[in-house]
Amino acid sequence: MPDAADESKPQAIETARRVIRDASSVAVLTGAGISTDSGIPDFRGPNGVWTRNPEAEKRSTIQHYLADPQVRRDAWQIRLESDMFTASPNDGHRALVELERSGRLHTLVTQNIDGLHVIAGSSPDNVVEIHGTVHRWECVDCGARGPMQEALDRVRAGDPDPSCPICGGIMKSATIMFGQSLVAADLLRAEIAATQADVLLAVGTSLMVYPIAGMVQVALEAGRSVVIVNAQSTPFDSQATVVVQGSASAVLPAIL
Ligand code: NAD
Ligand code: ZN
Repeated sequence: MPDAADESKPQAIETARRVIRDASSVAVLTGAGISTDSGIPDFRGPNGVWTRNPEAEKRSTIQHYLADPQVRRDAWQIRLESDMFTASPNDGHRALVELERSGRLHTLVTQNIDGLHVIAGSSPDNVVEIHGTVHRWECVDCGARGPMQEALDRVRAGDPDPSCPICGGIMKSATIMFGQSLVAADLLRAEIAATQADVLLAVGTSLMVYPIAGMVQVALEAGRSVVIVNAQSTPFDSQATVVVQGSASAVLPAIL
């Protein structure tokens, strides 16, 4: 955890608390950093999956996944062992549930695919999983979908690259890979949230993945306050209303 901002931290927490308290609606954007304290590594933090193994990025790229059966077999093995299916929400996820219960959550947009916001108790109607979910599989050919455990059971039973039970097509997890487009309706909800809510609270995200990092730009252009909570600095720190450097699971309960 970087300590550079520690001296100013109590003050930043107080400012963030005040900005959020005075807002009648808050849009939230979360990234992998809100789930690291649940034991799920991020991609770009110091311990990130891609920081440690740049090759892993290939498995998240649709062209490689479709073209190379070995990439798919590796991906299914990694899904089998993934921490995401056993992880539990932490105090950061729970603080956002409280924000919703207070009636001031506009929309919770998450880049996470771990499903932990809904597991923590956030209403699925208010959560936009902009990069999809690992809890379901989907067929790239016919669009069929089903529970991920169904697909994992087939891998466990000895099918290293299971194909679609409906059309025989290639199956993947229901996440948006690099090279795939986001769902237009989800992107629109994110933009509306950034434009309408008094405050945009960005948590645990490097703000380097577009177009969703553009939510911050949209909020700034609409004259909204922007609160950033992240362990490391982001490209938007200098434009934010307030930046709190620290761990989401400790900072969110303090500011919400
Ligand atoms: P990222 O890996 O690019 O950035 C995560 C950021 O969180 C980093 O800047 C890091 O410093 C910070 N961070 C790490 N631990 C933190 C903590 N405890 N408290 C506060 N901040 C912390 O992640 P991203 O911006 O979400 O970007 C990208 C992509 O990674 C998304 O597409 C997402 O789908 C995918 N991803 C999701 C998960 C998940 O679902 N849990 C995990 C890894 C990656
Ligand atoms: Zn199919």
